Amino acid sequence: MAENKKTRIAFIGSECYPFIKTGGLGDVMYALPRALTREGCEVRVILPYYRCIPDKFKNQTLYRGSFMMDLSRDGRTFYVGIMEMVMDGVIYDFIDNREFFDWGNPYTGLWEDIPKYCFFSKASLAVLNYLEWIPEIVHCHDWQAALVPVYLRTHFADTPVGRACSVLTIHNLRFQGICSIDHLKHWTGLPDGLFDYPLFKVSESDANMFKAGLAFADRITTVSSTYAQEIQTPAYGEWLDAHLRYHSYRLSGIVNGIDTDLWNPETDTLLAEPYSAETFLEKKIANKRALQQKLNLEPDDHKMVLGLISRLTDQKGLDLVNAIFPQLLDGNTQVVILGTGDPRYEASFRQFEADNKGVVCSYISYNETLAHLIYAGADALLVPSLFEPCGLTQLIAMRYGTVPIVRETGGLKDTVQPYRAEENSGNGFTFTEYRADGLLDAINDAKTLYFTDRWHWDEMVRRNMQKDVSWSKSALQYLDLYRGALAQARAEAEERAKEAARKAAEAAEAAREAAERAAMTADHANRSV
Ligand code: ADP
Repeated sequence: MAENKKTRIAFIGSECYPFIKTGGLGDVMYALPRALTREGCEVRVILPYYRCIPDKFKNQTLYRGSFMMDLSRDGRTFYVGIMEMVMDGVIYDFIDNREFFDWGNPYTGLWEDIPKYCFFSKASLAVLNYLEWIPEIVHCHDWQAALVPVYLRTHFADTPVGRACSVLTIHNLRFQGICSIDHLKHWTGLPDGLFDYPLFKVSESDANMFKAGLAFADRITTVSSTYAQEIQTPAYGEWLDAHLRYHSYRLSGIVNGIDTDLWNPETDTLLAEPYSAETFLEKKIANKRALQQKLNLEPDDHKMVLGLISRLTDQKGLDLVNAIFPQLLDGNTQVVILGTGDPRYEASFRQFEADNKGVVCSYISYNETLAHLIYAGADALLVPSLFEPCGLTQLIAMRYGTVPIVRETGGLKDTVQPYRAEENSGNGFTFTEYRADGLLDAINDAKTLYFTDRWHWDEMVRRNMQKDVSWSKSALQYLDLYRGALAQARAEAEERAKEAARKAAEAAEAAREAAERAAMTADHANRSV
């Protein structure tokens, strides 16, 4: 794709696998730049140089330079160091500053995180200028990078990077970077006028970083078409629905994919036995056995294993899981939970395990290695989210031949078609209303198929493993979006240039007429004398 060759894209975000990941954002920051690189783009990923990044990666970085940057209203200047590494054709530039990035995992608390990401957003643009690597597109992610489009059109408007178009992607609207107007005025150093409605201000006292970023970005995207619609409604809009409706002509949804090299059951070295769509019937079972053994579950090939891999938060529908837990256990089912988060859910899941030794395992931790084995060893994966911008676990599950059981919301609705017995079609089991009985019905339907019609179950597994859940289609959609933004920017620049030329011609004409009039007046005066 020769025409993509020169497209330079800077990805700016707060996490990226394998350096630092707390959820799906980290996966996207890893996989989409690689997919775009494969399409011929030049991509740089800009990240904070957190202390919690493992040394094995830090040791691969090289110092690329440093400078001092102003930021806050007290006139202090801050050190910006650049540590760089290249991995699979993608350049990673880490921004070093110990005052901001020495704490947290990587997040600390909003009060400290706000200055951290004000600094990060501004420093990212300053780094691009410093490196003299000027992208056509700066693609920013979530509230932590939402100030980038704001800085781009203010502080950096007349600098080289100011020529770039900005794309802001909403991975999760629940987190917005809201704090007092004074705190944000201080840390952004931006002019007072921006802190009125409709930019930063959300109440008499509070300002919202995401809101301002959305107003300034050339394009707004989110990670599924359904979520793009949902967030324009009060139920899902997190108080920004009216703002998003106002900017909806720039808002679109592009569904996430997964990195199919990283998530590949045929080559995954973390599995007990690799398998493919052709061999899963014989080989997937080895992973169930390994999972049962590792987690001290009764070894039994005939049990249906339900998995759940998730941040333990309200968003993920865990109150529904809690409500039906006793009904899940019927003597033929085992449950494996991997997650960490809200102590309320950690405690209830621990209790379920204590009450059902050998049948339930609640692994309260973040563990990538175990996640791979669960995706391979479970029969079905629960994703009953209250809201889900895209969701990656259902995509990974399908790739690993594990049938998703999901609520029809956001990206779950866009990626999992409900099973239809009469047509032998669909990818999983779904429910619509956010109700515990809906989830229970969906699980029971899955169990019925699993225990009474294994042939059709296996057909679904094969269909899922063959489904394209890669980034290839979505990466092309992002490229189209970038091209649209660039074409519009070019057209607007041409329009401005034309307008300026027209005004200059008008001024020249007016000057010529004035000169003519003056000459006539002088001539007239001479004659009168
Ligand atoms: P979110 O971004 O809301 O957390 P996603 O479904 O988009 O949810 O992405 C979750 C990602 O994080 C997946 O790659 C999933 O495998 C991973 N993940 C979530 N919790 C854990 C955990 N406890 N251990 C390992 N991986 C996890």
